[in-house]
Amino acid sequence: MATNINRAAVIGSGVMGAGIAAHLANAGIPSLLLDIVPTALTPDEEAKGWTLEHPAVRNRLAANALSGLTRLKPSPLYDDAFLSRITPGNLEDDLGKIRDVDWVIEAVVENLHIKRELLAKIENHWKQGIIVSSNTSGISIDGMTAGRSEAFKRHVLGTHFFNPPRYMKLLEIIPGETTDPDIVARLTEFCGKRLGKGVVVAKDTPNFIANRIGTYGLLVTLQTMIDKGYTVDEVDAVTGPAMGRPKSATFRTLDLVGLDTFVHVANNVYEKLDGGPEKQAFQVPQVLKDMVSFGWIGEKAGQGFYKKV
Ligand code: NAD
Repeated sequence: MATNINRAAVIGSGVMGAGIAAHLANAGIPSLLLDIVPTALTPDEEAKGWTLEHPAVRNRLAANALSGLTRLKPSPLYDDAFLSRITPGNLEDDLGKIRDVDWVIEAVVENLHIKRELLAKIENHWKQGIIVSSNTSGISIDGMTAGRSEAFKRHVLGTHFFNPPRYMKLLEIIPGETTDPDIVARLTEFCGKRLGKGVVVAKDTPNFIANRIGTYGLLVTLQTMIDKGYTVDEVDAVTGPAMGRPKSATFRTLDLVGLDTFVHVANNVYEKLDGGPEKQAFQVPQVLKDMVSFGWIGEKAGQGFYKKV
């Protein structure tokens, strides 16, 4: 039953893609790490009259730089020598190289449209047998594969690693409606035995299991802080060390995740709910939206609730 994964490709070299490639390298699996290489202003930034020197643009470019490995804390690699197992590349030029891998992991920005377009491009180079998974935090796998061939869809599923991938044991595996059960079983075994993960197979529902609960908890904490006038330090003192979670306090966690990603993840559930108190709880407070628009998106940009010193 054991699946044979000797080479992988990770697409998206941000917080998670770089961390996943490092985790694979630690497990002895060489991987390609592909990303777009941004060098210009987006149309939206141009319309705002921003230049490349604007702090929000600089933060975006820094966050998108190829190989986020060097800015990830704590260190994602057991040993710097393992870096040789990771081959960075440009998505535009190097996507064809996925024909030589056994597993492609998509870890680009949390946006259904972008992920769908990427899966279409992956299918152009895909050959029978290559497993394709998405690291989405909660976007529907079936929504992502809509329009793809039945053969391709049988090979696609969600593999939701947690941040940081080297340290977090939990891995959610999310089969789509037409994912081959044999691939689910083989990948579950591989991720458990070879990658050391505690695998939970989740249904393809908005934000799956852990993020449906975790996002709710973070938003309720943030809203309570705003309503009661607590400070970031006070909330982190109570939700971190005092609860025996020295590194997982509320705002430390948000900075680690990335505020831009967190907003996408919260919106993903908000848009799917019809109404009532649960929907209200998933509404993103204005302060988070403002921070994202300033480029204060967390550790990857050097500034979130905390400034990187
Ligand atoms: P990130 O912002 O750090 O990185 C996203 C990467 O996507 C960037 O390197 C960017 O260049 C690339 N990208 C953007 N637009 C693209 C496009 N059109 N085509 C190809 N690549 C593009 O984000 P992240 O935190 O690494 O999140 C990646 C995925 O992992 C998301 O689906 C996210 O929800 C999920 N995830 C994130 C966390 C977390 O804590 N940050 C945890 C679990 C899962």
